[in-house]
Amino acid sequence: MNVFQVSPSGYCKGVVNAITIAKKTRRQYPDSPIYVAGMIVHNVYVAEALKKLDIITLERENLKQYLDTLGGVIIFSAHGIAPKIKEYALDKGWIVVDASCVDVLYTQQIIKEKLEEDYEIFYIGKKNHPEAEAVLSLCERIHLVENEDISNLKQYPKVFVTNQTTMSVNELSDIYLNIQNQYPHALIQNEICHATSQRQQAIKDLKDCDLLYVVGDPHSNNTRQLANIASNCGIKTRMIETAKEIDINDLSADINVYVTSGASTPPYLSRQVLQCLKEYADTGILNTYEIDINKIL
Ligand code: SF4
Repeated sequence: MNVFQVSPSGYCKGVVNAITIAKKTRRQYPDSPIYVAGMIVHNVYVAEALKKLDIITLERENLKQYLDTLGGVIIFSAHGIAPKIKEYALDKGWIVVDASCVDVLYTQQIIKEKLEEDYEIFYIGKKNHPEAEAVLSLCERIHLVENEDISNLKQYPKVFVTNQTTMSVNELSDIYLNIQNQYPHALIQNEICHATSQRQQAIKDLKDCDLLYVVGDPHSNNTRQLANIASNCGIKTRMIETAKEIDINDLSADINVYVTSGASTPPYLSRQVLQCLKEYADTGILNTYEIDINKIL
């Protein structure tokens, strides 16, 4: 069995930045309670590792309640935050730390400019995803488009179309085509971030891949998109969170196995998967390793 790592894969700059900010915040406020509004990046092991630094992840669904009843430092995640929630936290006396990714902020800025130019915004994204929620909170003239069905959208004289940064290139091009047919005058700006498109392209470029492991949290949109793209390319794909989920029945001596990981997957977890697979290739034994949470961040 041959084992390869897909390149590029794993952490993107926005995730590295958010985790660095969280650790720095703990050093800056050693004695203060520190919370994160929702998962700082979509990976449960990162949230657990932060908990060891006494940085607690709050459920986004009940955020307002937490802002009313707790206090200290609140970190907003890489996915961006609704400006009114940030203002609310400041009004309540919280120390606010914003770990929004620059690419997310850039998309928000473009949307704000187009709103000022009287465009109606069609935003292609995932319902309830924090990045989409932050964008939708900007104005009621922003309409969420989730799939190719755009029958609920009205005609507007000026339409600007853009998208969540972690969408799949394939899925997006079908939706954009539909919108172009129905709104030939629409202005379209693809905002898939560089990290997402590079990781997706690396999957499309795979040759002789018999089995692909996509390591990541199922909550991570970019991780799910990597798995979808691979499946659509006809690649046998397994989405796993850790090496413990490798099924020996999928492995055999004569196959090429590749490993990729989402932009929010700790490198430590992907390395474990690679190590297990390489050991199996060398010895025929599939070892399982415990996860040392101290090595996640
Ligand atoms: S996936 Fe892209 S937009 Fe999201 S945090 Fe990473 S670099 Fe930023």
